[in-house]
Amino acid sequence: MQFHDSMISLVGNTPLVKLNRVTEGLQATVLAKVEYFNPGGSVKDRIAVRMIEAAEQSGALKPGGTIVEPTSGNTGVGLAIVAQQKGYKCIFVCPDKVSADKINVMRAYGAEVVVCPTAVDPEHPDSYYNVSDRLVRETPGAWKPDQYSNPNNSRSHYETTGPELWEQTAGKITHFVAGVGTGGTISGTGRYLKEASDGRVKIIGADPEGSVYSGGSGRPYLVEGVGEDFWPTAYDPNVTDEIIAVSDKDSFQMTRRLAKEEGLLVGGSCGMAVVAALRAAEGLGPDDVVVVLLPDSGRGYISKIFNDEWMAGHGFLEDTGPSARIRDVL
Ligand code: PMP
Repeated sequence: MQFHDSMISLVGNTPLVKLNRVTEGLQATVLAKVEYFNPGGSVKDRIAVRMIEAAEQSGALKPGGTIVEPTSGNTGVGLAIVAQQKGYKCIFVCPDKVSADKINVMRAYGAEVVVCPTAVDPEHPDSYYNVSDRLVRETPGAWKPDQYSNPNNSRSHYETTGPELWEQTAGKITHFVAGVGTGGTISGTGRYLKEASDGRVKIIGADPEGSVYSGGSGRPYLVEGVGEDFWPTAYDPNVTDEIIAVSDKDSFQMTRRLAKEEGLLVGGSCGMAVVAALRAAEGLGPDDVVVVLLPDSGRGYISKIFNDEWMAGHGFLEDTGPSARIRDVL
């Protein structure tokens, strides 16, 4: 018989897929690490497994305990799946810009979800950081993974994503591009790839225009899951060689092209990361192998990025069409 013990053992080992159309005119090979193949549909399943197992080992999470976390959705789904399989409860706190679809998914997996306003400072009592802290204090047996400071966030990528990419590319990877949210993905994967290649692999962060990583102040932007208004400790600035800022419009137009031209129905931070990857690949040669990580699926954004009215209402629809070339988007 061939079966998995539970959905938990399906986390990781996601495929690498060549981008063929959006790369028109470029010499380098551009490969996408497609993280929606994880059972919860995103890269965050990886950190959920590692953070929960480490908390069980340290005694921070006891049998029957409750996991409380501020999350934009993907981390919640990963934590909810691992938690239900292991008998823990979940309470998630998320900002109100997160789509109703994503919130309903977390509820479907059995989590309780508390929604907080986006338009307040992190210090405000109603900010999603502060509400989650209050819930931790008030809930018996509560444990907060805190993906923003938990060392097991980037460690999960150092132990899984990094080695997978090194193996899948037979050590030929030359550039790694990923969006930066908590910074766990780029810091852990980047550190592994730097070590494995003796510093040869270039690590490039993609960031929404306005976020702190690319020199902004945290001005609101619409791409979900990436960019910050503070510097989390999960992010190691020494690992990244370069940060490329990408506008909402470019991110969402590329997200649509990935569905239409590459068969990849992915989220907005994936479009953002691909725009950065294509910019990084300009001027590279045929021996260069650029890997871009695509964190999640487009299913959670159907009523936004894949909805013409929503896109037009934000002025994101101009200059698109089947003949739109990379340079129009870049
Ligand atoms: N894209 C999406 C959709 C995400 O949910 C996240 C996680 N916040 C990221 C990208 C960024 O990943 P990381 O937190 O590891 O930097």
